[in-house]
Amino acid sequence: MIVVLTGGTGGAKFVDGLRQVVSPQELTIIVNTGDDLEWWSLYVSPDLDSITYVLAGLLSKERGWGVKGDTFFCLQAMGQLGQPIWFQVGDRDLAVHLLRTRLLSKGKTLTEATLEIAAKLGVQATILPMSDSRVETRVMTPIGELSFEEYFVQRWYQDPVESVRFAGAAEAQPAPGVVDAIMAASVVLLAPSNPVTSIGPILAVPGIREALKQTQAPVVAVTPIVAGVAVSGPTGVLMAAQGLPVSLAGVAQAYHDFLDILIADTQDARAAEELKRSGLRVYCAPTLMRTSDDKANLARTVLSVVYGESKAHNASDPS
Ligand code: GDP
Repeated sequence: MIVVLTGGTGGAKFVDGLRQVVSPQELTIIVNTGDDLEWWSLYVSPDLDSITYVLAGLLSKERGWGVKGDTFFCLQAMGQLGQPIWFQVGDRDLAVHLLRTRLLSKGKTLTEATLEIAAKLGVQATILPMSDSRVETRVMTPIGELSFEEYFVQRWYQDPVESVRFAGAAEAQPAPGVVDAIMAASVVLLAPSNPVTSIGPILAVPGIREALKQTQAPVVAVTPIVAGVAVSGPTGVLMAAQGLPVSLAGVAQAYHDFLDILIADTQDARAAEELKRSGLRVYCAPTLMRTSDDKANLARTVLSVVYGESKAHNASDPS
């Protein structure tokens, strides 16, 4: 079983690659819910939605979020009614938020609602939220504390970031199946997602980091930082705010206590050589995913590194 920890942009592209090269039954995706928000009285989970849509073949590749070919009549009408419209919700996307909210209001957990929506959309992989409890990513800026979506979508991540915290994390528990999946995995992959606000909230749920340390499976991260900058979004600013260098070494540092293998971009060959000296296994590959083939090739390369290593290891193991 291949377990992936992910956010919803770089992570969704990577999951798109994986779904092209392995059978969906082999995939368990553990998803960040720190960005979840209440929008028009509905429970919206941006990263769960992106991962569900990508696995259902429904994600809009042009936008990178929402359903492909969606319309925005409701959004337009809400605007005319004087309601906030800075968080854009398409009409078909809206149906998913309505159903999720309906399931939650009937007493289902977020895990149950997620599995039910995924099944209805024909997804055969397993999608799990990191937790059924509310863990909220809060971004401290000079104008005050913002939710992640206020910081990212409403204010275009223009505010300087002083710190980031995960409200509710200390009391949260991993969703059912999360720790078991990590412990039983043949490999655990950290998608090229934001280490602070996508992977960070998952690691903040008590028990998940410990499972990553304890699992027999190799834990492999794909870098979201290429040539010292984030491929997209505010990852660099957020890493710096958390005291991490904005570099390949910073990614390694974020995961230092459980990471076995780091996949660096070929542009970072020199930084990769330096990191190898610290004992980390680092491999270089083209990690920029512009096309469908780029995504599939990266997924194939990552898996061949992992399985190639384990074969080499088995061959040298006299037992
Ligand atoms: P979020 O939930 O929208 O924040 O999405 P993620 O955390 O999953 O993805 C954001 C991260 O993906 C950023 O740090 C980007 O640098 C990284 N990213 C986006 N596209 C690519 C890509 O094609 N290759 C790599 N290596 N990283 C990417």
